[in-house]
Amino acid sequence: MRVQDEPIDPFNGDPADPAAGLEDDTGDDELDPLTESERQDVLEDLSDLEIYQALLSPTGVRGLVIECEDCHEPHFFDWDLLRGNLRHLLTSGKPRVHEPAYDPDPDHYVTWEYARGYADGVHDTLAEGTEDPKDGPAA
Ligand SMILES: [Zn+2]
Repeated sequence: MRVQDEPIDPFNGDPADPAAGLEDDTGDDELDPLTESERQDVLEDLSDLEIYQALLSPTGVRGLVIECEDCHEPHFFDWDLLRGNLRHLLTSGKPRVHEPAYDPDPDHYVTWEYARGYADGVHDTLAEGTEDPKDGPAA
């Protein structure tokens, strides 16, 4: 922990505050780092993505379809594209949602919700498989 020698008061509202002009100059070009919880969310998405890809790509699924918050249309993302977008979000703090896959076949893309349900189902099946067969239902 660093000890502050001077009090910091960024919200004093003083129009003569020299910092006020600096904010206008930096504008939108400034990197906007993710908060710690946002970073954590992205990291969880990345690890979920690994699981979904491992489970779903053998069944022919090429990626996920995501409803875009900006244009309210579904965008299709290959696994690699999704991973790239999430990593980009981690490093820059900005999403790159408008680089969807080129000419996608919607049949090969599923939603996060579907992928999550699929992964949960596989997990349950594996959990049942580890039980003593004498106690569980016969296969
Ligand atoms: Zn969009």
